[in-house]
Amino acid sequence: MADNEKIKVTIDGIPVEVVPGTTILNAARQIGGDIVPPAMCYYSKLEGSGGKCRTCLVKVSKGSDKDPRPMPKLVASCRTTVMDGMEVQNITSADVLEARKGVVEFLLINHPLDCPVCDQAGECHLQDLGYEHGLATTRYEFERRTFERIDIGDKIQLHMNRCILCYRCVFVADQITNKRVHGILGRGDAAEISTYIEKAIDNDFSGNVIDVCPVGALTDKTFRFKNRVWFTKPVEAHRDCPTCSGKVTLWYKGNDVLRVTARKDVYGEVEDFICNTCRFDKKQTSDWVIEGPRHVAHTSVIAANHYETLQPLPVINENPKLQEANKQQFERSVRL
Ligand code: SF4
Repeated sequence: MADNEKIKVTIDGIPVEVVPGTTILNAARQIGGDIVPPAMCYYSKLEGSGGKCRTCLVKVSKGSDKDPRPMPKLVASCRTTVMDGMEVQNITSADVLEARKGVVEFLLINHPLDCPVCDQAGECHLQDLGYEHGLATTRYEFERRTFERIDIGDKIQLHMNRCILCYRCVFVADQITNKRVHGILGRGDAAEISTYIEKAIDNDFSGNVIDVCPVGALTDKTFRFKNRVWFTKPVEAHRDCPTCSGKVTLWYKGNDVLRVTARKDVYGEVEDFICNTCRFDKKQTSDWVIEGPRHVAHTSVIAANHYETLQPLPVINENPKLQEANKQQFERSVRL
């Protein structure tokens, strides 16, 4: 096969051509929409991530054109590469949906169901999965694991109760900062993020662990409990930063910037990792060049009361001064 030759894979009846070596998950992302499996641990920007949470399981109903036998078990789509002629089922397979329910139930065995008081509510991938696939009750009879909250410096807090051991923060510390001093210790129900995480603060990029954490285990202490995300107004902005790309989302309440995060793509992954100075120290509008309202998927609760396109006020007065005032008011409302 020539280097640039593509291979064909069909996912939920939709064909797509991809380069050899592409995973099923990334092939599905090339198609987009509802057929893309969810992912709690895979993160396209973090090398080696994936294969931990099992939420992206899919059914391979045809292995390839050469060997059309189906795969005997469901496979993790983030770790399985496509073969030419492969046929995959995700939302069209009752087995997959049933298995995903089981995975969500497992993830929630130790995760507290305290979304109403969790800072991550409204942008938590586990919350979304729970609503889509979870049971209304738990079959688990034992006490959930509980931990004391740990302050990682003065800006980040770890609440291990909510950690689902996805390893994303470990990969961030490993690959984005220059000295990882935390990791996952223990195995099985004794596994936890090591206490050395407290020492992971002396680095310009340590704040990115907040953005990659899919649940409310790692949160921004400068924003914690200041507001619910759906009451805030996300706006894209940038600054000329010597350390990072400086491209961020500002989360406004009124005229106040309550928090600064990296911009996230449609899969909830950050587009560019940002430095701690942009994240924690630049909370004035004057620090930024405002680009406009952030696009929010209509399925997100953050979309509530979020307007991205506004019509200019109708011209009801011939007075050019008032027309100019109207125009400025419209431009201000689009900016914020
Ligand atoms: Fe994943 Fe968050 Fe736990 Fe780190 S703290 S392993 S990012 S769930």
